Amino acid sequence: MSLNLFIIGASGCGKSTQAKKIAEKYNLSHFSTGQLLRDEIASQSQLGLDAKSYIDQGQLVPDDIVFAILVQNLQKVDNRDFIIDGFPRLLNQGQYIEKYLANKGQPLDLIIHLDVTVEEIQKRRADRGDDFQDANRTDNTPEAIASRQKFYDDNNGPIMDYFQAKSKLFRVDGNRPVEPIFDDIVVAIDKLK
Ligand code: AMP
Repeated sequence: MSLNLFIIGASGCGKSTQAKKIAEKYNLSHFSTGQLLRDEIASQSQLGLDAKSYIDQGQLVPDDIVFAILVQNLQKVDNRDFIIDGFPRLLNQGQYIEKYLANKGQPLDLIIHLDVTVEEIQKRRADRGDDFQDANRTDNTPEAIASRQKFYDDNNGPIMDYFQAKSKLFRVDGNRPVEPIFDDIVVAIDKLK
């Protein structure tokens, strides 16, 4: 049986930390669309060059670029047993991947929504004393952070509604330490089996 998961949430909500723990526990490939895009930029590929200005401004990278990079990487793992971190960010992306997986005979098992308040995200940033946990990122400016938050606020509702209606959504309170959040996610994943 395959296990095909997605984790989404506002920028700075801690989704990468949870995604890594989930990948380790369930032996899944972990893909972060943000990291895959940063890798493309580092390798100076055409896709990376096309994506860079969007990322630096905290805007969403156009779907055709994101889909191309995601599909390249999913194919490497036979389109199964993965957790994708930071995707879908638009309802259209969710519908695209749903269709893509269906064509491959693969289920979309669960979208995990890590729900963290803006106040908590700001508090964590302030506690860390920097804008973002990864110093290699070029999109740490206050403007880019605000832009990411706005894209999230504008687009998250329709994604939630769509997958909730299909019973594919698990919403977890992310305003807590890492371990209790992870424990709740594990209970939800184990119910899929
Ligand atoms: P992240 O590492 O998840 O914070 O993503 C960093 C940046 O990569 C975002 O601000 C977007 O510019 C871009 N990005 C990541 N995932 C997506 C996605 N699913 N759709 C569009 N752009 C994305």
